[in-house]
Amino acid sequence: MVPKVANETLNSLVMPAAPTRVGVILAALGKLNVTALKYLIVHLNTLQTSIEFEILSPNPEDELLVTLGEGKVVDRDKCRSMLPDFRERMNRFIAAEQKTYDLADQSFPDNFAVISLAKFSDEHYGLKEKHIHVQALGNWERHMAPPSILEFIVVLLMRQAASFAVPSLSKSLHLGTKGCLFDFTSELTEARYKALQSFVCSTCRSRMQESGAVHLADDTTHVLDFSWLGATSDPHCPAGIVAKLGYDLFLTKGIQPTFWENIRSILRDEATKEIIKLVFAILLAALLLRLGLKEH
Ligand SMILES: [Zn+2]
Repeated sequence: MVPKVANETLNSLVMPAAPTRVGVILAALGKLNVTALKYLIVHLNTLQTSIEFEILSPNPEDELLVTLGEGKVVDRDKCRSMLPDFRERMNRFIAAEQKTYDLADQSFPDNFAVISLAKFSDEHYGLKEKHIHVQALGNWERHMAPPSILEFIVVLLMRQAASFAVPSLSKSLHLGTKGCLFDFTSELTEARYKALQSFVCSTCRSRMQESGAVHLADDTTHVLDFSWLGATSDPHCPAGIVAKLGYDLFLTKGIQPTFWENIRSILRDEATKEIIKLVFAILLAALLLRLGLKEH
């Protein structure tokens, strides 16, 4: 007699769980380096298997995206009330694009994360509504670095994606600041601690395990570790690629590099270092030659 095993149990042993899909939409982000940000977001797909991010580019004139334009002050409740219609528009947009380009895959992401540099009037920096989350980071200031704003956006994105994967994580779980990604933090300045280390506490880990997201905690800490960024000087690693795209993750603190950050970044470049060495060597040789000629 073959022991009866529930199909679901068998499937879960054989088939890896499908990743949670998150459609990422960027509102107008002013002078933020959008190319570098997009690269970092899609790179997250190579680092872990729990979440799959996909960048969507709907009509930039969309009512919600215009409302969440860079620096705009937005009433959070008003923004919340706009989300159901936005979702409808997104679904129509995705279906229309799939049809236009005759794409074989007609599926939709279940969840959306909107990244914006608007400011909520009540100083909160995020809004959660079932399957849509909004980041409003207009209050980000240079003194909040480290982390850089790009890293902070990535951290928040992982936070939002985790709560899509495990809905019981969508509310902050604990009051105490543990440096856990799921710490309750009402202010942006406090939220940086989530991004400065890589930690999912035992309480939050248990929640993930209970809901069947067995790899989510390790996947999350791997992303938050940021050692995968590598060095700016290595053109083959993410930090080097992002630097080539115009944003030095270890120097630039704000939305765009300042004049001095640009100078420091140029001076750190290996090719520049070699040129400077060469120029000094020539100057030194010229000086020695001149002194030598004077002695004779
Ligand atoms: Zn926790």
